[in-house]
Amino acid sequence: MLKLTNVETFYGQIQALKGIDLEVNEGKIITLLGANGAGKSTTMKTIAGLLKPKNGSVEFNGENVTGLRPDQLLRKGISLVPEGRAILTSMTVLENLEMGAYQRNDKDVRNDIEDVMQRFPILKERQTQMAGTLSGGQQQMLAIARALLSKPKLLLLDEPSMGLAPLIVADIFKIIKEINEAGTTVLLVEQNAKQALKIADYGYVMETGKIIIEGSAQSLLEDPRVVEAYLGRK
Ligand code: ATP
Repeated sequence: MLKLTNVETFYGQIQALKGIDLEVNEGKIITLLGANGAGKSTTMKTIAGLLKPKNGSVEFNGENVTGLRPDQLLRKGISLVPEGRAILTSMTVLENLEMGAYQRNDKDVRNDIEDVMQRFPILKERQTQMAGTLSGGQQQMLAIARALLSKPKLLLLDEPSMGLAPLIVADIFKIIKEINEAGTTVLLVEQNAKQALKIADYGYVMETGKIIIEGSAQSLLEDPRVVEAYLGRK
């Protein structure tokens, strides 16, 4: 579904991605792991069109989409929930959800808003409240729900569990699994490597702008290098 070939992305003179090869197959959950500054967010932003790669290519469903704008990629079915959520705190929950569907012109938006509110009952309860008054976990749910309203084929989640209490983190991982089971392919960046690998099919580990390890989630859970660096000794 998604294929990155030798992708290189720069911030001015600084090369953040040094030739990334990565594939996401339809229907799967793929996780991207690595220490702070490894280039995970840069990879996500490059896929979503927020950054343009200097070299290499991004293919989506067999089409070369390298260098397209975020709105063009959104229309093709790629939706990013950025690190830090980026919800509109002084708009209501409902208005945030409506924003998620802004580029659609079909008539199902109302129904789809109802559907996501079924999945996230707390958002239905709080729909008239300002989004900024929600707890961190609720804001993350709102960010994910908003992204779902663009009807993505590929959902990019950048550190969805960041800053959340353990119980809420478990909820977020459960929701990601459910979204995937309902048919959306997921690329997940996580610090929480163990939980990410538990729900993922396949994973990549990045270090200083490169992929250094890849494999099935099960093989990564057992890989001594991954255990040592990201999972901690038992
Ligand atoms: P984190 O978990 O901290 O977000 P990351 O793996 O997502 O880490 P990136 O944010 O992609 O890492 O950063 C990759 C590299 O690019 C780092 O060396 C970082 O300092 C650099 N970088 C990121 N954003 C910018 C920017 N706006 N300008 C210059 N350099 C940047």
